[in-house]
Amino acid sequence: MNFNAGPAALPLAALERAREELLDFEGSGMSIMEHSHRGKVYEKVHDEATSLVAELLGTPLDAWDVLFVQGGASTAFAQIPMNFLGPGATADFVVTGAWGEKAFAEARTVKAIGGGEPRVAASTKRDDKSYVRVPRQDELALTGEGAAYVHVTSNETIHGVEYALGPETPFPKVEAPLIVDMSSDILGRRVDAAQFDVIYAGAQKNIGPSGVTIVALKKEMTARGRRDIPTVFQYRTVAENRSLYNTPPTFGIYLVRNTLGWMKAEGGVDAIEARNRKKAKAIYDAIDGSGGFYRCPVEPACRSIMNVVWRLPTPELEEAFVKEAAAEAMIGLKGHRAVGGIRASIYNAAELSWCEALASFMNDFAKRRG
Ligand SMILES: *Cc1c(COP(=O)(O)O)cnc(C)c1O
Repeated sequence: MNFNAGPAALPLAALERAREELLDFEGSGMSIMEHSHRGKVYEKVHDEATSLVAELLGTPLDAWDVLFVQGGASTAFAQIPMNFLGPGATADFVVTGAWGEKAFAEARTVKAIGGGEPRVAASTKRDDKSYVRVPRQDELALTGEGAAYVHVTSNETIHGVEYALGPETPFPKVEAPLIVDMSSDILGRRVDAAQFDVIYAGAQKNIGPSGVTIVALKKEMTARGRRDIPTVFQYRTVAENRSLYNTPPTFGIYLVRNTLGWMKAEGGVDAIEARNRKKAKAIYDAIDGSGGFYRCPVEPACRSIMNVVWRLPTPELEEAFVKEAAAEAMIGLKGHRAVGGIRASIYNAAELSWCEALASFMNDFAKRRG
């Protein structure tokens, strides 16, 4: 039972399909990895993966460019301001955790190159440096219509803080283009893609292996990108070449295809979301029902359904918890080194039965050690 934060569990069906196809892809006599990225055999996989992202994410290809790039979400932290934050421009960052902090910090280094000005429109960081919620709309100090873009992180993976999209926690309403880092909750639930102008995500949490990054841009956004940065960093270049400007990570994209093919066969985003909610509920119920032995620091309205974080009364108990869970075949539960505690990452491929097993282990551990 793999609760790793990323790279993370992949659906067994996607891996089995890869095993079946590994040595002889569709009768071609070799693996997909060995095919030219310009050949017909790979091209079909590439197009299928692109279409699956577009279909499941709700970013139809007549209005959006759906790109596969490399470098992870961290590279996008730099590449987005390079493309969209030119001299004299302003971008607003809504910071709800460590990844948003990094995106902002990287935009500041880009400032030295591009001349634009990133600013923090809101941060929910507390005095003890923790994050436990997203901001309310009335807390946002936005530049407004003139801004180049507003940047948000839909799910802060380390802190388990999500725009849960309840009445108090919708995505910010903004007058400028809205860019979202969706690395850890992309396709984990239904989200109206139309409210965004750029959606990006490393694949390794919810939709594939590491090495592939998805960037979906409304076509107006692609067109707006600067032309005075290196060609290879312009999203326009990647879009004009259908993510085949240079050699893409073909095997990673192939595995994204397998993973999204599995998702579609499971019933698509709605079915996956329903299961994800059950998974998260099983664990949150174990926390809330423990009489205070387990504590989730995140405000209930912002609790992530992808990364559930909680504390035990002492670091010693947390260490024992992780160790005993591993002995029961539950791995990856240690919280991020920056925040400590426990974290269960329960992306799309994590099974409901694992979450139920974890919840029952939690109940048992609390009884024995509480
Ligand atoms: C994991 C993660 C990142 C970093 O992704 P890389 O692909 O390792 O660069 C950025 N943002 C969020 C929200 C993440 O969860």
